[in-house]
Amino acid sequence: MPQRHSSSLLLLVLSAGGTLFGAGCGQDPGARYAVAPEFEAYVARFESEAAARGEPLAITDLVVAFSESGFSGSELAECELNSDESPTIRVRASLWEGSNETQREQTLFHELGHCVLRRDHDPSKDDDGLPSSLMYPLRISSVVYEQNRDVYLDELYSRRGEF
Ligand SMILES: [Zn+2]
Repeated sequence: MPQRHSSSLLLLVLSAGGTLFGAGCGQDPGARYAVAPEFEAYVARFESEAAARGEPLAITDLVVAFSESGFSGSELAECELNSDESPTIRVRASLWEGSNETQREQTLFHELGHCVLRRDHDPSKDDDGLPSSLMYPLRISSVVYEQNRDVYLDELYSRRGEF
């Protein structure tokens, strides 16, 4: 297959010429779906909430796993986006254990906002002084999230692909 051959050559040249593809060999690792059992229900719910808003999502490239290293302060989870790896959400096991259901959903939906919807943080607040978005940089109180869940989810899915 001539086309495939020339494509491989191009990758080799780029890889040898710089760090465009990182330290690897320049091959596309492809999509990887590896969501730990504890988080599967949240990812499925994230998809169904998107579909319910007419914004269907099929998440095929995502890693969600427990991890303890690299967190600061009271961070519960984080999304890592590197061009040569699948989007990865790391969840701090020690804090996950002590979190309630609302906090867990809010945390994973926020990180999926980064890792899947490609959304940035949004520090804005509404007229009542409440965060306007689930992409607010700090955790929203569980009561506020529960009372405004539909509004937050509507907003969340309405602005994807910010980066
Ligand atoms: Zn964030």
